Amino acid sequence: MTYQHNLEFALKLDQEDPLQLYREKFFIPQHSGKDVIYFTGNSLGLQPKTARDYVLQEMDDWAALGVDGHVKARHPWVSYHELFPELISKIVGALPVEVVVMNQLTVNLHVLMASFYRPDGKRYKILCEAKAFPSDQYAIESQALLQGLDPKEVIIEVGPRNGEFHIRTEDILASIEEHAAELAVVMIGGVNYYNGQVMDMSAITRAAHKAGAYAGFDLAHAAGNIKLELHDWDVDFACWCSYKYLNSGPGGVAGIFIHQKHASDPSFPRMAGWWGHEKAERFQMKQGFKAIPTAEGWQLSNAPVLSMAAHKAALDIFESVGMEALIRKSKLLTGFLFFILDNINKEHQEKIVEVITPRNEGAYGCQVSILMIKNGKEVFDALKAKGVVADWRAPNVIRVAPVPLYNSFEEIWMFGNIMKQVLMPDKSKE
Ligand SMILES: *Cc1c(COP(=O)(O)O)cnc(C)c1O
Repeated sequence: MTYQHNLEFALKLDQEDPLQLYREKFFIPQHSGKDVIYFTGNSLGLQPKTARDYVLQEMDDWAALGVDGHVKARHPWVSYHELFPELISKIVGALPVEVVVMNQLTVNLHVLMASFYRPDGKRYKILCEAKAFPSDQYAIESQALLQGLDPKEVIIEVGPRNGEFHIRTEDILASIEEHAAELAVVMIGGVNYYNGQVMDMSAITRAAHKAGAYAGFDLAHAAGNIKLELHDWDVDFACWCSYKYLNSGPGGVAGIFIHQKHASDPSFPRMAGWWGHEKAERFQMKQGFKAIPTAEGWQLSNAPVLSMAAHKAALDIFESVGMEALIRKSKLLTGFLFFILDNINKEHQEKIVEVITPRNEGAYGCQVSILMIKNGKEVFDALKAKGVVADWRAPNVIRVAPVPLYNSFEEIWMFGNIMKQVLMPDKSKE
């Protein structure tokens, strides 16, 4: 696509956008009587207008039925989680038996590490990315401590080279190979929360397996954002949250993936709970855990129906759009943002914004992280005053994520224009 630097061009892209009507399906927060430019769908996705009705239906059934709602609600609560595998498996590229919706993200990361991080003599190391999301760092560290090991001995971090902003795949692969004999698990964020880098999960999984280790990914910033093929990549396990790109509400119920080859094995070690027990016998309350031979066998508790109802509202929208169409638009949107940012540098004598998100094909999703070489906070405050909701990472990074479900090309053009007004007041009129 050859982009043009004018408002008419942005409006034309919006007119030609097959997803333009989806914006209407979400509540857009207001600023001075107008829609904000909401670029933080990577942090908390907007509310689908249908979510309220989905939740109220369960509230009404609870009011009318009490405990009978477990079997008599319109969507019986005993099996409420069964509404999800068909929907979510398409989003993460899995078989329905490989996914289950349960708990929250960090809890699930622990639950999965309990199964897949089982240090065995010499094989006890965990490889992850440097500066992983803090919750992931704490989870991994404490998993080492729980095994009576020293996190400093256990954790291998791979970061960007000096002067670079993202991690080279070749460096991850080299580190896996270097530590092959001692490596137990590779656990990496599929899309980095800070710079938006998409990891080559397929290559990393292959290398981990060659080294004799498991490969798992935290997909908090990947689910609903990029194309995932967890089953075909042969990933061992993964987890994600539902409140970022998946628009399912603050603290919403999360999800996990366990490859069929492990999920189908009831003897695979795990933290067990009654909801993972064979359904036919679940209510016999007998001794002796018998796992359901799918990802459902990792469930601990009965379904949190109210938060699942909001999740269902959002996933029904994903089902009607389809990931292919979403990703097609996402590439155009984010490509337009790159173009607008390049233009700011071009019109200025020197480089004033540095995109630290990798720009090669397949290495970025919605999110663009912009390192502000000058006037960063001033630009951010101006954006905020004009109703742009973005994210500031001190000392100098602005993260923005135009999401294909509800953001428009016009919003990207306006974003660029506000930046120009602050950085180059004389050039912002065109
Ligand atoms: C958002 C995010 C979390 C948040 O964890 P919760 O358990 O949902 O609070 C954890 N890890 C990563 C990588 C994230 O992006």
